[in-house]
Amino acid sequence: MSLAEAQRLDAADPLRARRAHFRLPEGITYLDGNSLGALPDGAPAHISGVVEREWGEGLVRSWNDAGWIDMPRRVGTKIAPLIGAEAGEVIACDSVSVNLFKLIWAALCMRPERKTVLSEPGNFPTDIYMLNGLAGRGLAVPRLAAADMLEQALDSDVALLLLPHVHYQTGAMHDLARLTRAAHDAGALVLWDLSHSAGAVPVDLASCEADFAVGCGYKYLNGGPGAPGFAYVAQRHLKALEQPLTGWMGHSDPFSFRDDYEAAPGIEKLLAGTPSILALAALEHGAELIADIGVAALVAKSRALSEFTRQAAARIIPELPCISPADPAARGSQLSWRHDSAFALSQALIARGVIGDFRTPDVLRFGFAPAYNSFADCWHALEQLRAVLDSGEWQREEFNRRGRVT
Ligand SMILES: *Cc1c(COP(=O)(O)O)cnc(C)c1O
Repeated sequence: MSLAEAQRLDAADPLRARRAHFRLPEGITYLDGNSLGALPDGAPAHISGVVEREWGEGLVRSWNDAGWIDMPRRVGTKIAPLIGAEAGEVIACDSVSVNLFKLIWAALCMRPERKTVLSEPGNFPTDIYMLNGLAGRGLAVPRLAAADMLEQALDSDVALLLLPHVHYQTGAMHDLARLTRAAHDAGALVLWDLSHSAGAVPVDLASCEADFAVGCGYKYLNGGPGAPGFAYVAQRHLKALEQPLTGWMGHSDPFSFRDDYEAAPGIEKLLAGTPSILALAALEHGAELIADIGVAALVAKSRALSEFTRQAAARIIPELPCISPADPAARGSQLSWRHDSAFALSQALIARGVIGDFRTPDVLRFGFAPAYNSFADCWHALEQLRAVLDSGEWQREEFNRRGRVT
């Protein structure tokens, strides 16, 4: 393991030319694409074209002429191959949180004799908060079981299994196929949160017969800050599915302006209000770049980057315990280490131009975006971390001050 080896791997990397499709500031090593994906080089021109031409000149005509009205489905269709879904099963809209609400509610409606929603402790907070919000109104009964106890906890009370495919903190990846089968065997439905999966790890919802999924547009799909999320409903459930946010854009004929609500027959039934066109334009551009690379190449690169880094870290920063699975097939596109002062370490690294991130209370995280990260990035980040640890510079007061966002 050496810089020379990282450079050799970069020279042989089939995705090496893709890095130029993103704007990465000079002097910055970016290992946080799992929190906010980098800016695609073509995005500013694309977004400004939508603003200037479609909005500025087309005005309201662009709903038809520029296909704005179809954008949620169109962008969903571009995301579909990244998660093993078909066109018409995925829609880009709202935030992950809102999509979770719609689909947890929808799943509970499909299992009226059951109320329990099984998840795991330490799941991403919004997933638990949305579930607890429904529980507070008597609509769901949450049950949390540790990852290795989930199958035992699947009994005849469970309506829905709600899990993150890749855990945001540890990077541990669930066996999507096995747990989906186990849930179905228990008569339950499954809702996967693919926020840390889409665009980086293998996901095949169709072959696993998953029921529902949600995912994030601003992480590996590079849709920009606050990009819309996406929602997936298996074709077989579309007809019966009911969701609670019965806004006009989910109507079968929004422009009939009828008093009575009739849900759209297809995936559009998940829409509530008017789609956010400028945000969708950015997401469309980012998702296209990723989908164009293809899942197989993304996964191969992601695993190679994280495995190179894991092995190098074991030598360069041996005192930091790595909490991510050692088996590349059992983890997402990230590595996490524990340190009591992980926050200050992450800040000191940023001062040296290495952007990873911190997750409370003590996790330092590096995310690997296969479309633009290089092996040399990973090597450099570890060397800088070594220097931060050796110098003790992280103890400086300025690195221990927390902003509103950590
Ligand atoms: C990033 C992320 C979210 C984000 O939810 P928003 O409502 O879009 O802010 C949700 N769940 C998981 C697991 C995430 O990693």
